[in-house]
Amino acid sequence: MPTLVSEAFQAEGAEPLSLKPVFSASGIKGKRVTALSPQENALTDFIQTVIAEKPDIDSPFSVLDLGVVMGLMDKWATKLPTVQPFYAVKCNPNLSLIGALAALGSSFDCASKAEIEAVLSLGVSPNRIIYANPCKSESHIKYAATVGVNVTTYDSKDEVEKIRKCHPTCELLLRIKPPQDSGARSSLGLKYGALPEEIPELLSVAHAAGLKVTGVSFHIGSGGGDVRAYHGAISAAKSVFDTASLLGMPRMRVLDIGGGFTSGTAFDAAALKINAAIQSSFGNEEGLVVIGEPGRYFAETAFTLATKVIGKRVRGELREYWIDDGIYGTLNNIVFDYATVTCTPLACTSKPENPSCMDFKTYSSTVFGPTCDSIDTVLTDYQLPELQMNDWLVFPNMGAYTTSSGTNFNGFSSSVKSTFLAYSSPITREQTML
Ligand SMILES: *Cc1c(COP(=O)(O)O)cnc(C)c1O
Repeated sequence: MPTLVSEAFQAEGAEPLSLKPVFSASGIKGKRVTALSPQENALTDFIQTVIAEKPDIDSPFSVLDLGVVMGLMDKWATKLPTVQPFYAVKCNPNLSLIGALAALGSSFDCASKAEIEAVLSLGVSPNRIIYANPCKSESHIKYAATVGVNVTTYDSKDEVEKIRKCHPTCELLLRIKPPQDSGARSSLGLKYGALPEEIPELLSVAHAAGLKVTGVSFHIGSGGGDVRAYHGAISAAKSVFDTASLLGMPRMRVLDIGGGFTSGTAFDAAALKINAAIQSSFGNEEGLVVIGEPGRYFAETAFTLATKVIGKRVRGELREYWIDDGIYGTLNNIVFDYATVTCTPLACTSKPENPSCMDFKTYSSTVFGPTCDSIDTVLTDYQLPELQMNDWLVFPNMGAYTTSSGTNFNGFSSSVKSTFLAYSSPITREQTML
């Protein structure tokens, strides 16, 4: 029987200081958080326990490992100590994740009324929210004004006019297009960001409208971009600070370096580049406030998806399976986020003595989602042992751009039915990585 973290720490009186605020955070308090044992496969063992306790459990479901989130926050604070994170809610609006991040000191990047409402519903102060969508509808801007969200981004003259009309005390950050393409999976520069030649006019127009432009933002693109892009973007931001001064506008003070971070070793490389670029472009800028908008960084590796095999067809050596989640649901990241997903059969990770895993024979397999559309194919030519009906497939790293962008196509409700909370200690995670 797994221990509940709350009980374990109370019993041992050994609760690390950083844990307490997280377990009592809105979105988590009152929920069961299970401590994962410091063993390999602790997470799949936990999934096995969840299913054993409730064999008729609704599939698909996911597990949020709060220990991963805490570890990532520690790492952020160590590697980017001068950059205040504003978690990009669109990446995964799960309330337990938002609550944990709020308790760990993060602020939030919201892009719509509903995202602002979600964050405020957890008791987060509106001055910890940036409305980081350069093009907003008037009704959403008015809503931001009524709840006291007072910082937003823009990259067009029409946006200035809307903000002047609906929220004249709102501070603005000018969103610029980073000079070099980072080669990221999802380029955002195609849609947003002022071009260099547009910048002076966009600054003057806002100034003339009586709005305060307090800084500059950019986004190098989401997912696996070249971290060298931060350098050019930060120095372009510095030019905007200089242009504003030349135009006689009040001194800017906010540098928003956007998102685009991944959580592996690429993060260390990105942090080095960013720190060096801030130093070289803004080294002697007094009172500079630097913020970032990480989405994927915090969400991707924190969630694991469990789906059930609901159909099977054998065609010679080929094995075909249907699972109850697919590219119209949580696995839409395959389409919209260009994700490459992997999965393991729960039976084999958790119970390697299972007969179908013992002989290590695998088959070229196709894994389909549940809808009638043939595009709803999750994996092709994927090696899996022979699976049976009602076996489970476990997909790691399923937190970024998954549940937030699913559909209800064909009557299959988009996302996971429930999210179970777990906590791996740093020791657990070290062991798992070995
Ligand atoms: C999507 C988005 C983010 C988050 O991007 P990640 O690549 O997930 O870090 C941050 N800021 C803005 C403005 C965004 O649109």
